[in-house]
Amino acid sequence: MTHIVVIGAGQAGGASLVAKLRNSGFDGKVTLIGEEKTPPPYQRPPLSKAYLLGEMELERLFLRPESFYDENDITLRLNTRVDAIDPPAKTVTIGDEALSYDMLALTTGSTPPRRLPAAIGGALEGVHVVRGLDDVDAMEPEFAEDRRVLIVGGGYIGLEAAAVAAKKGGLDVTLVEMADRILQRVAAPETSNYFRDLHGSHGGVKILEGVGLDHLTGDTRVTGAKLTDGTELEVDFVIVGVGIAPGTTLAEAAGLELDNGIKTDAQGRTSDPAIFAAGDCASFPPYRGTRIRLESVPNAIDQAEVVARNMMGEGVDYVAKPWFWSDQYDVKLQIAGLNAGYDTVVTRPGDKDGAVSFWYYKGDALLAVDAANDPRAYMIGKRLIEGGKSRTRGGPSRIRRSN
Ligand code: FAD
Repeated sequence: MTHIVVIGAGQAGGASLVAKLRNSGFDGKVTLIGEEKTPPPYQRPPLSKAYLLGEMELERLFLRPESFYDENDITLRLNTRVDAIDPPAKTVTIGDEALSYDMLALTTGSTPPRRLPAAIGGALEGVHVVRGLDDVDAMEPEFAEDRRVLIVGGGYIGLEAAAVAAKKGGLDVTLVEMADRILQRVAAPETSNYFRDLHGSHGGVKILEGVGLDHLTGDTRVTGAKLTDGTELEVDFVIVGVGIAPGTTLAEAAGLELDNGIKTDAQGRTSDPAIFAAGDCASFPPYRGTRIRLESVPNAIDQAEVVARNMMGEGVDYVAKPWFWSDQYDVKLQIAGLNAGYDTVVTRPGDKDGAVSFWYYKGDALLAVDAANDPRAYMIGKRLIEGGKSRTRGGPSRIRRSN
């Protein structure tokens, strides 16, 4: 009987890939291994949104009911870390055990977010990251009235955590971003300005841009922070949101090729033909002619399904349709496409109050749309991008040419 082993019981492996194998009629043995202990596998986006805010029950995080794995004859091994892969022997090592596979899927996600080095106070109590359920459960009691929180990093996760802190009320919230502006890595100045204004008006969050954290202070627990411009802050707790890296440790040690993640072909196969990869950990070709890696739920779901089909021999290419979202206060941001390489941004007010969208172009080609409370703009943009079409730049819009 063919044995498929899946390492990583998150969005790609734990929910999508194993389900697709069974839905497609795979009747061999499936073993799903995950190092986290929470049963069953769960989704991460609410961790920095509704769940952290206390507006979502734990059960609603679960990607599948616990019974799903039994019912589908999937051996679920949680709280279990795979230590190594031996591709020539086709085994994975778990402690003293060597488990044989016929085909292996790596859905190892991203490594825990970068923590601050201990030398600058990263190991003090009260310094948190937002990656897993354990992190968020440990941080939640800190959100009490009159406490001062410092958020390090102005990407989407840092901004979502700031919005939660502000919404809970009674907290003093400061966010520092080392780059010139929040969201610099992922969005145009228009989108950064929109969110800076939103945090100023809704939450009273103090956003400091072009200023980094120099170091944290405190004996065992964090009590203060010194910023790179010399400012000193008193703080009660810190949330670090300064980025993640693809989970490539196992793949690298096993000698698989890497290229900004575990390198796969368009069908999700790694440099070893019996090993596939999907989700945050995998980079794949081609999107607009280049190899990319995506850190998003829709990619994890779709790519893992394609990998499941290819493990069954279908031979289909994965065609990425990137989209993403962020919730902050009463704003839902929906992003279609990828904006890399844009030269022009067009701002379009939406039909409803407060709705606005930012359209990224390269020449005449539409690359991406950031739509804030404007699902219609998002849907139109997504359809156009996926169809390889553009939209005229006329209408009530403001045009900015970037350098
Ligand atoms: P994961 O879901 O991270 O699963 C990987 C699993 O592999 C982990 O459980 C890990 O413990 C396990 N693993 C790794 N190595 C081993 C090993 N050696 N042995 C056993 N198990 C191992 N995306 C969006 O699209 N929209 C959002 O709004 C959004 N918000 C987010 C908010 C937060 C706080 C976070 C952390 C992420 C967010 N994301 C969002 C990103 C999204 O959650 C990820 O892109 C998605 O979870 C990727 O799925 P994955 O299966 O590749 O990885």
